[in-house]
Amino acid sequence: MTMHSLAPEADTVHHLRDDFPILRQEVRGRSLVYLDNAATTQKPTLVLDAMQRYYTEDNANVHRGVHTLSQRATDHFDGARRKLQRFVNAKDEGEIIFTKGCTEAVNLVAASWGRANLVEGDEILLSTMEHHANIVPWQIVAEERGAVIRPIPINDAGEIDIDAFRAMLSPRVKLVGVVHVSNSLGTINPVAEMIAMAHGVGAKVLVDGAQALAHLPVDVQALDVDFYAMSGHKMYGPTGVGALYGMRSLLEAMPPYQAGGDMIRTVSFEKTTYNELPNKFEPGTPNISGVIGWGAAIDYLQSLDRAAIAKHEDELTRYASEVLVTIPGLRLIGTARNKTSVVSFTLEGAHPHDIGTILDTEGVAVRSGHHCCMPVMTRLGIPATARASFALYNTSEEVDRLVSGLHRVREVLG
Ligand code: PMP
Repeated sequence: MTMHSLAPEADTVHHLRDDFPILRQEVRGRSLVYLDNAATTQKPTLVLDAMQRYYTEDNANVHRGVHTLSQRATDHFDGARRKLQRFVNAKDEGEIIFTKGCTEAVNLVAASWGRANLVEGDEILLSTMEHHANIVPWQIVAEERGAVIRPIPINDAGEIDIDAFRAMLSPRVKLVGVVHVSNSLGTINPVAEMIAMAHGVGAKVLVDGAQALAHLPVDVQALDVDFYAMSGHKMYGPTGVGALYGMRSLLEAMPPYQAGGDMIRTVSFEKTTYNELPNKFEPGTPNISGVIGWGAAIDYLQSLDRAAIAKHEDELTRYASEVLVTIPGLRLIGTARNKTSVVSFTLEGAHPHDIGTILDTEGVAVRSGHHCCMPVMTRLGIPATARASFALYNTSEEVDRLVSGLHRVREVLG
C-alpha cells in the first residue's frame, strides 16, 4: 500500500475547511467527519450570508414589482441564472430553467418532452446505474405512451458496456438517459461519446449531472447534450433548488410542464398564450433565496482552483480505496477506471445500516442503503452498500478515521 502524498492539503484543504462552519463541531464526542457529500454537501459561509442578506435586505417577489426591493431581488435572481449559464456554458440564459432539484428537472423533460414526442414502440435507453430520479419519471411516461425502457448494461466494475450500448441504438431509440457521475459507484460515464453515438440515430440525450458539477468542469455546448439536469445542494448550494439545461430549440417546442402565474403572456378564458423561455417553465414564485444561494455557491467554486480540487478529490478516492481494501472482509463496490469522490463497499458479516450506525458513534457520517439505485444493486448482487463520498474539504486524516471506525465495526459485530 502506498500512502499518497497529500501535502497540498495542509495549505489548501485545511484552509478551505474554515469556510464551512458546520464542520467545526463534535458528534458523539469526536470531531465530525462528514463523508456523506453525495447525499448533500455542506454550505460555505458565503452561501449562508447571501441567503441571509436576501431575506434581511432584499426580500420581495421577483419579476412583478416596480419597487426597489423587487428590482433588487430580481437582479440577484437573474444574476444567479447568468452565473449558472456561464458555469455550464449554455448559449443563453433562456436555456436554464430553475426547478426544485435535479429530480424535478428530469420530471420536466419526461412529462413535457416525453409526452409530446414519444409514441408506441419508441425506446428509451437508461443505464443500469441510473438514480431512481432518472428511471421512474420515464417509466410513468413510457407506460402512458406505450414506449419501452431498455437498460444499458454495465460490467462488474460498474462501467457502461459501450459495445452493448452501440448495439442497442436504432432509429426506434428516442431518448438516452445517463448519469454523468454515479452517486452509488462514483463511475464517470463517457457521456460525450454516448451523446455522439445517440445523435447518430437521432435520439435525444438527458444527462443527470447531479453529482458531476461539484467535481468536473461541464460544458453543455461542447458535450452537445440535449438536456442536462442539475442540483444546487450537491455543489455547496442550498437544498430545494436545481435546474434543467435544455437546448433552446427543444425547450421552445415543448409544452409547459406546470402552469400558473409568470409562465403566461396573456390569459383569457378563450385562449392563453405562453411566456418566453425560461419563464414558460417557471410558474409561480420560485425559490428565490435558494437560487441566490446557489449563485453564491458558483462564485465560491469559481474562486477556487478547481483543477487542484478535482485532483485532491481523486487522490482521496484513490487513497480511500487503497486503505479500505486492507480491512478483512471489505469489498469495494464500483471499481471503474474512471471514477471520483465515491467509495462504496460492503463488509462481511455487517449490514450496511449497522456499519453506518456504529461509524456514527465514532463521529463519522457515511450513507448506507441502495442510494436510490436499486437496479444497480440488483445487477451487482447486493442489497445495499455503505458509501463514503468526498468533497473539497475532506482530508486523508478523515479517511483514516473512517478506517479506524471500520475496525471498530468489526470488533463490535465480531
Ligand atoms: N441524480 C443523482 C445521481 C443523485 O445523486 C441525486 C441525489 N441523490 C439526484 C439525481 C436527485 O437530486 P435532487 O436531490 O436535486 O432532486
